[in-house]
Amino acid sequence: MSRVAYTTYQLHIDLSQSCTIEIGKLGEYRFPAGRYIYTGSAKRNFEARVSRHLRADKKLRWHIDYLLASSHVSVIEVVRSRLPECVLNQSVQGTILVKGFGASDCVAGCGSHLKYCRNADPPK
Ligand SMILES: [Zn+2]
Repeated sequence: MSRVAYTTYQLHIDLSQSCTIEIGKLGEYRFPAGRYIYTGSAKRNFEARVSRHLRADKKLRWHIDYLLASSHVSVIEVVRSRLPECVLNQSVQGTILVKGFGASDCVAGCGSHLKYCRNADPPK
């Protein structure tokens, strides 16, 4: 097996109810309840980055910090990967709700590194 370290990750996020969340300078967005996948990378201190995402008390810095700060949000799974960040992100079938989310450094035209994947509950 390759011993090359992980450099990218995906946070599988569950939003238990629809809510409006302010994402830093991007402004306020309405997030429908359901499943989201956020793709990120850390070339150094990888595990520290992952645990930072799972920690509640921190200064809000990245777009994802604002989303995770919502009390209706929980990270249900962390997937570690060695794929390039944008390749990993583009492998996710999903809808872009917030243009530019987590994609400040993206040069691959992803549009967003957060994708809305499906409804938690079937439409009533
Ligand atoms: Zn990208």
